Amino acid sequence: MLSLGADLGPEQRREALSRFASEQFDVLVIGGGVVGAGAALDAATRGLSVALVEARDYASGTSSRSSKLVHGGLRYLEQLDFSLVREAQRERSLILNELCPHLARPIPFIYPLQHRGWERLYVGAGIALYDALGRRSGVPRHKHLTRSGARRLFPGLREDALVGAIRYYDGQVDDARHTMTLVRTARRYGAACANSVRVVDFRRCGERVAGAVVRDLESGAELEVRAKHTINAAGVWTDEIQRLVGGRGELRVRASKGVHLVVPRDRIDGTVGVISRTQNSVLFVIPWGGHWIIGTTDTDWILDLAHPAASRSDIDYLLAQANKLLRTRLTRDDIQGVYAGLRPLLAGESDATSRLSREHAVVTPVAGLTIVAGGKYTTYRVMAKDAVDAALQARGAAAPESVTSRVALVGADGFAALWNARERLAAESALEPRRIEHLLRRYGSLLPDLLELIAEDPALGQPLAAAPQYLRAELRYGAEAEGALHLDDLLARRTRISIETFDRGVASAAEAARLAAPVLGWSDDVVAGEIAHYEARVAAERESQDQPDDRTADAARLGAPDVRAGASAPIPGSGGGAGPADGLARDPANRPPRPA
Ligand SMILES: Cc1cc2nc3c(=O)[nH]c(=O)nc-3n(C[C@H](O)[C@H](O)[C@H](O)COP(=O)(O)OP(=O)(O)OC[C@H]3O[C@@H](n4cnc5c(N)ncnc54)[C@H](O)[C@@H]3O)c2cc1C
Repeated sequence: MLSLGADLGPEQRREALSRFASEQFDVLVIGGGVVGAGAALDAATRGLSVALVEARDYASGTSSRSSKLVHGGLRYLEQLDFSLVREAQRERSLILNELCPHLARPIPFIYPLQHRGWERLYVGAGIALYDALGRRSGVPRHKHLTRSGARRLFPGLREDALVGAIRYYDGQVDDARHTMTLVRTARRYGAACANSVRVVDFRRCGERVAGAVVRDLESGAELEVRAKHTINAAGVWTDEIQRLVGGRGELRVRASKGVHLVVPRDRIDGTVGVISRTQNSVLFVIPWGGHWIIGTTDTDWILDLAHPAASRSDIDYLLAQANKLLRTRLTRDDIQGVYAGLRPLLAGESDATSRLSREHAVVTPVAGLTIVAGGKYTTYRVMAKDAVDAALQARGAAAPESVTSRVALVGADGFAALWNARERLAAESALEPRRIEHLLRRYGSLLPDLLELIAEDPALGQPLAAAPQYLRAELRYGAEAEGALHLDDLLARRTRISIETFDRGVASAAEAARLAAPVLGWSDDVVAGEIAHYEARVAAERESQDQPDDRTADAARLGAPDVRAGASAPIPGSGGGAGPADGLARDPANRPPRPA
């Protein structure tokens, strides 16, 4: 069934659930992160019938918690893995120029040099090769800079932090919005997609997997989704799903935690990003609208997968690393937001997670089930294509080749023309030009949807009182067309208010909930419950960020219940629950006591 509508509102979710119960799909995709969303789009645009289920919210796993870079993997050059870099460069170019130019943009970085002579030669040769592998990718070429040249671009750098620098370009995208837009695009091509729908078991036909048993976490109802082939794209939950099918599982995925801080733009004087080496990883200081993102860490994580917690030591480490570079020291008081994500790494031979490969793997451990894991955000499209290819091959089914390198995401079509007309659009809509630019960068050519909402109800054209960078219409639209089902979805992923304000979204919670209420049918009691859940989440996160280490931070974070009841409880038969390798940590009775 081909649907040209790309909305993900409550009505479409009901329709998807009813299709789950009645159709047999060619492909069922488990996981609405970037890889699962990409796989759903890949399969749908080959003409296959597709169901996509996401247990929590689209992108709520790793795919909203990355450094938000679309990059060719500069550091993989050191491993001399040219094909990996070339592939990522090609994907970067597609994302920036063809697939979603409204959501992604080139971003300049400087790499500060700390040693005279050899370092410029060594790093310069690497970056020149990086540019050469990505030639015709639509970003400017690198440039060598003197110390004063670099400090003109980034006056906030300490004078003793560099002897010179090299400027180069990568890409940037709002990961959560991009993943959600992939889901919308898959829906446009006929996929039935629903969030808050968790796979709790597999359907079997003899030994063969023939779909899944899923639970709608909003209603508690269970139903069976029949599918000729199932693709598991569950990121760090891969092992849990593998255990459901029994056996040892062919892939081992381990989780490595990466933490980022968000600080206001005026705290650091600079116009470009900075990338610098640390002892175990790299430090990024990345411009992000009215903010900077500072990251990241890279440490093993064996605790709760749904809510990885940043501890005090993670935050202190990042501040210390950033302060080695910055003229004006950052303190905890400068921090607006903190987020932690888990890299789904294929378990390799080395124990140091930062040395594990970011490449992906695709396996078909039993008939009817293909598992894809590993990789990185930038190469989601390749992972998705490989997974669908493997699924089709295992079934011996003929289908057209992947076409996703030529399928622009919703909002891309016509974006350039609207961008050129932004002054006129501002005059016609009575919105300031900077507002129109903000909207175009988030919705592209879907902008008229937002303008229509505002025309119908001019109050929606007002900014949110406590987060004036967003219009009230954006919150309404998040519920109406972007699949948000809870306040947390709106404040953490449809907008980024949860990491972009010092109050972490608490001051916007009531206004946002009132805007979503008419669309999602919330009574006053439900509105109050959503706000209470959100406040508890923020309080638990703040508490976790005061704890000295992972275990105590995890315990504090788990003090707030999940707004989707049952989203993180152990799946019977999966041999465990939240954590990948730590049965003790999964059992609440074995958790360390919550810190006072
Ligand atoms: C700190 C950090 C920084 C990063 N920075 C970058 C970067 O700058 N650039 C880059 O290219 N890559 C980056 N990455 C890597 C990139 O973010 C990940 O590789 C990518 O987001 C993983 O996507 P995924 O779809 O595999 O997993 P996820 O996004 O985690 O999606 C898996 C989904 O499966 C769902 N799920 C699990 N179990 C079930 C079930 N039983 N039923 C239904 N659904 C289920 C989960 O809820 C989840 O939403 C970074 C990663 C981290 C952690």
